[in-house]
Amino acid sequence: MLIQLTYASRSSSDITPEQVRDIAEISQKNNVKTGITGALVFSDGIFLQKLEGERQTVNQLYEKILKDERHEETVILDYAEILSRDFTEWSMGFLTQIEDNRQLFQKYSATNQFNPYQMNSATLRAFFAEIRQNVRWLKR
Ligand code: FAD
Repeated sequence: MLIQLTYASRSSSDITPEQVRDIAEISQKNNVKTGITGALVFSDGIFLQKLEGERQTVNQLYEKILKDERHEETVILDYAEILSRDFTEWSMGFLTQIEDNRQLFQKYSATNQFNPYQMNSATLRAFFAEIRQNVRWLKR
C-alpha cells in the first residue's frame, strides 16, 4: 500500500550548508534503492519533507530520520494513503529558498518566515503540488 508522510523539523543550530547538501545527496542515493520518492525543502532553519512509498518502507525511513542528530522537533504534519505518487521523477527533490522561488514560499506563509508547523494539510498539499509543477526550481 502506498502512503505519503509529511513532517517538519528544525535543523540543529550548528548545521552547515554542506551538511544540508549531504542530507539531500544521501537521500537521493538511498531512496532510489528503497523505492521512496518525495521532496525535501529547507528554509529558515526548517526542514519540510514529503516521503512517499510503500507504507512499511516509509515508516522505517521515518524512524531512521527521527534519530538523526542534524535536526530536532520533528512533527508529522500530514499522513495519507494514496492511489499514486506525486513525485515519480524525484527520489528526493531538493528545494531551498533562493531568490527565484521566494514568492512561492511567501504565497503559502502567513508571515515572511517559512513556517510549515503552522500549515494545515490542505495548504501543505497545495504547496507540494506547486513545487511539483515547477520542478525547474528544484536545486540540488
Ligand atoms: P551513512 O553512510 O550512515 O551516512 C551518510 C552520510 O551522512 C555520512 O557522511 C555520515 O557522516 C552522515 N550522517 C549520517 N547520519 C548522521 C547523523 N546522525 N549526524 C550527522 N551526520 C550523519 N535518509 C534517507 O535515506 N532518505 C531520506 O529521504 C532522508 N531524509 C532526511 C531528511 C532530514 C531532514 C534529515 C536530517 C536526514 C534525512 N536522511 C534521509 C538521512 C538519514 O537520517 C540517515 O542519516 C541516512 O539515511 C543514513 O544513510 P546511510 O546509512 O546510507 O549513510
